[in-house]
Amino acid sequence: MTKKTVDYKKLYNLTGDVTPLQGDCGNLCRSICCQPDKENTLGMYLFPGEEVMFTGKEDWLRWERRHPVEDEFPPSWSYPVYFVRCTKPCPREKRPLSCRLFPLAPHLLGDDTLLLIYETLPLPYSCPLITEKIPLRKDFIKAVAQCWQELLKDQRIYDLVKMDSKEREQEDHRPYIVWEGTIKKIKAVDAD
Ligand code: SF4
Ligand code: SF4
Repeated sequence: MTKKTVDYKKLYNLTGDVTPLQGDCGNLCRSICCQPDKENTLGMYLFPGEEVMFTGKEDWLRWERRHPVEDEFPPSWSYPVYFVRCTKPCPREKRPLSCRLFPLAPHLLGDDTLLLIYETLPLPYSCPLITEKIPLRKDFIKAVAQCWQELLKDQRIYDLVKMDSKEREQEDHRPYIVWEGTIKKIKAVDAD
């Protein structure tokens, strides 16, 4: 069975040069989101298929294969889900997609309206962009929105975002909305 997936090269190009602020937001916080914690537990999941953007031999990345059930991913996700940790500053052009989309997160309303909000997940550090609601560059917001519109065509990612959105609503989180739009028709994507 052919496994269709997101065109990550296109999304890496879209997000290659855009930054949340005009200058380096790392100057506000000494790049706290790029610093390993004491136990070096911080890291990020790759999106399904994003691993093709890496050789697996990067000396700044440590890889782990995780079980989707154990990590509470929706049933459409299959093993392995890749979790990566950076052990030193990355070459910026190689950074994973999660780093490119932060600090925005997607939220899907019941009618599939797509919102971009500031990340609501508990973080082990404080991001001033989120805590101070610093206005982000329009081109950054636009690029992130385009990425999510593409990512959400993958049923697995759609399921995850839908699940997270429902949980957020059940917990009565009132997210700060940065952008509102629509998603294009969801195409079924063959899972493994
Ligand atoms: S924590 Fe926030 S402000 Fe600091 S570098 Fe990361 S995204 Fe930028
Ligand atoms: S991969 Fe790069 S951008 Fe992402 S957290 Fe690590 S050092 Fe920061």
